[in-house]
Amino acid sequence: MSEPVDLRSDTVTRPSPEMRQAIVAATVGDNVYGEDPTVRELEDRVAALFGFGGAVFVPSGVMANQIGVRLLVAPGEELVCDSEAHVVTHEHAGLASHGGVQTRTVPAPDGLLDPDLLAETVRAGNHFTVGTRAVLVEQTHNRGGGTVYPLRRLRRIREVANRVGAALHIDGARVWNAHVATGEELSAYGELADTMAVSLSKGLGAPVGSLVLTTEASLADARRLRQRLGGGMRQAGLLAAAGLYALDHNIARLAEDHRNARLLAERLRGEGWTVRAPRTNIVVADVDDAPAVAERAAARGVLVSAFGPTRLRMVTHLDVDEAGCALAAAVLAEAARPTGAVA
Ligand SMILES: *Cc1c(COP(=O)(O)O)cnc(C)c1O
Repeated sequence: MSEPVDLRSDTVTRPSPEMRQAIVAATVGDNVYGEDPTVRELEDRVAALFGFGGAVFVPSGVMANQIGVRLLVAPGEELVCDSEAHVVTHEHAGLASHGGVQTRTVPAPDGLLDPDLLAETVRAGNHFTVGTRAVLVEQTHNRGGGTVYPLRRLRRIREVANRVGAALHIDGARVWNAHVATGEELSAYGELADTMAVSLSKGLGAPVGSLVLTTEASLADARRLRQRLGGGMRQAGLLAAAGLYALDHNIARLAEDHRNARLLAERLRGEGWTVRAPRTNIVVADVDDAPAVAERAAARGVLVSAFGPTRLRMVTHLDVDEAGCALAAAVLAEAARPTGAVA
């Protein structure tokens, strides 16, 4: 059987031959001693792209979020985010268990916080109520379906946070997709945030790696937290080289993934499906029985995620082309038909 069309996530990409060459050619040193030149180059480059004082290379987006939030919120203090945020849905309660952080969530149907609702939730705190120390937003929003905060709305959120003296962390695992979809500069997002997490191993196609962005003054604390979490990687320049390659070659091409997501959504809609218009590279569709459709599609070589009992998620990326998306739509439509029905 040929390779499956894998739309479960944009994390499934494999390094291209050119990226592998960049890995082989990397100059390395001991990164825990701060001596890996390729890691340092990557950290400096990403910090500059977003306008931060510095960046710390970490193994995963989860670790980048844990460190970024903990630089802002001490144990026993509060973080406010939307109720479907990655930090509360997919990080195994890491903020609570490692960081002692209280998380309070606000419902947001498409994952994007409403500044007015947020204003009713954040609080300065008093002798019996802990104050909100930080607000977290996810750009783009994963479970919301790759949705994008317009800059205007982020600015309003920043103002709401400022009113109670709270900081802002942006979970920007897919911020590159927002940048390409809107044309906003990466630094426009960076300048609104106190800390930020960005990933190289989603749409950018690197095998491993994320960065946490912060002020120059907090870099030593960020590195201490990384060490405490066991994220100190030694000759990590091999991975950083893949990241540098991804920054050079794989940002602008995200537009292709966004086009393919629209194509997939249109084809499925043509089959009578209920599909949300994709803003970036994530397509969300509602079906009667998501696990059953996913299973039948998998048997025919198309892999998608059941994101709930009736919700499917499909993510486009650099290892799936237009033909793959067209094929996926046809296979999914077939997989969703009641058994025995004649097409
Ligand atoms: C994937 C993802 C993460 C975590 O990244 P990993 O590298 O898988 O740990 C964090 N936030 C968002 C929004 C994500 O989509």
